[in-house]
Amino acid sequence: MRTDDRVLAYGGGWLDRAAALRGDPGWLVERLTDPASLVLPLWRDRCLVDSERAPVRRAAVDAVELLAGADETVFLGLDAGRAVFAADLSGRDGHEACELAGAAEAVDVRALVGALGAAEAAVQAYAKGLLHWHRGQRFCGSCGAATVAGAGGHTRSCAGVGCGRLLFPRIEPAVIMLVEAPGAPERCLLARHQGAAEDSWSTLAGFVEIGESLEDAVRRELAEEAGVAVREVTYQGSQAWPFPAGLMVGFRATAASTRVRVDGEEVVEARWFTRAELRDRVAAGRALGRIDSIDRHLLGSWLDGRG
Ligand SMILES: [Zn+2]
Repeated sequence: MRTDDRVLAYGGGWLDRAAALRGDPGWLVERLTDPASLVLPLWRDRCLVDSERAPVRRAAVDAVELLAGADETVFLGLDAGRAVFAADLSGRDGHEACELAGAAEAVDVRALVGALGAAEAAVQAYAKGLLHWHRGQRFCGSCGAATVAGAGGHTRSCAGVGCGRLLFPRIEPAVIMLVEAPGAPERCLLARHQGAAEDSWSTLAGFVEIGESLEDAVRRELAEEAGVAVREVTYQGSQAWPFPAGLMVGFRATAASTRVRVDGEEVVEARWFTRAELRDRVAAGRALGRIDSIDRHLLGSWLDGRG
């Protein structure tokens, strides 16, 4: 990986988000009446797909009924000049949503990754995250009045008298770390998390708390969950993770000692693995994390001796 985030699923900056244009309601109306513009329908965090499991894409001008039946329609961006919108059909039951969209079923984008191209997976994940945010922000947290979408769905503003609070889509950053043992032999720390299968090992991760830097969060999570103190903490790369609002920030850290003491709650076991042990696991058919996760890339780059 190291900083080549294009190989990580769900990122890549495939659309021009046209931030300077999307605040203009007239421009957005023109885009919706442009025969080239597309609408991607979603339902309750899921892609609506056709019988071949390809996400439904409708020409905006042919999707009048779909757009009228949507709870929210947001502008995602421009794909080589062609506007791409997402429409949320979550207020409908599943059958109605499929019928309005002309879809066969609703499927989680993570179940489609690998089958979809990188750009399509990223755009579907982006749509899912943005529409999810809208569903959770219908009312103002300050005064309780209803909020209304603006800027093509990239803001919401409170309609309450004397309030007018402006809301922006929220991202919840989480750190994920590959920890190396000090000295030789070269080993990395993997953990078995609560609820995980008996022989399922992964890197440690956790949410960043208010008042912490990313590096602070790395140090705290490792101390809390595995009883490990670390010296250097080095940024490796990041991954969009809109499930529903995450941003995964990957680090490599070097432990001060090989002593491990797990919390027994989130992490039930943690131990050090050599590269040979991990290669043996791969050879025996054990996956190093999910194919779409930064966890797999952190482990893969360590296994290759990179970074
Ligand atoms: Zn308000």
